[in-house]
Amino acid sequence: MIGEKYLELKEKLTMVGDEDRPDSSTAEVHILFNGYAKDGDTPAGSYVASTVGFIRDRDARVIIDPGMVPNPKAILDPLAALGESPANITDVVFSHHHPDHILNAALFPYARFHDYWAIYKGDTWESREAEGFHLSPSIRLIATPGHTPQDITTLVGTNEGVIAFTHLWWFAEGPEDDPLADDLDALHAYRIRVLQVASLIVPGHGAPFIPDVTTPR
Ligand SMILES: [Zn+2]
Ligand SMILES: [Zn+2]
Repeated sequence: MIGEKYLELKEKLTMVGDEDRPDSSTAEVHILFNGYAKDGDTPAGSYVASTVGFIRDRDARVIIDPGMVPNPKAILDPLAALGESPANITDVVFSHHHPDHILNAALFPYARFHDYWAIYKGDTWESREAEGFHLSPSIRLIATPGHTPQDITTLVGTNEGVIAFTHLWWFAEGPEDDPLADDLDALHAYRIRVLQVASLIVPGHGAPFIPDVTTPR
């Protein structure tokens, strides 16, 4: 499973080291909904929900992965409890393009939407690479392909360390080899990139976890 590409990428990404750290550590992070992925009632069906995050950093109000949830209230009620309304959201980040991570994007009509290669707002499409882009002083996007070629991770500087929102893991246990991954060599190498700076991981479909020696890499 581990190929030459993995070894080359791993060596390159290990050099990045601490440079991925956001410029500042002023952000505050909340989880609006803890996602899941589980078998459905029929062989073809399943239940899937995205882990949805919210970040405040100075004037920025950011939602991560407003994807599939049982209903929109699952996102909007916890947001309201934090004193925020959908109209005040300034930015939305898509970790990648699968519908389970984007389905509820239209709840936030005035936001800038970020993916791996552009920023979208209203009818404007501004091309830019996500790699290294700061949404705010404490929020940086980096490219982390593997699950799909278009995957990005949001690194957030807080007073308790760097928190990574990423689909490199579905939940704390992995799975070790993402069964849907486009490129397993890249997936395993980019996990190492993220583990170099993150003290907390917010995975695509589970609760946040503190990485340790048992974390699949
Ligand atoms: Zn996906
Ligand atoms: Zn997913």
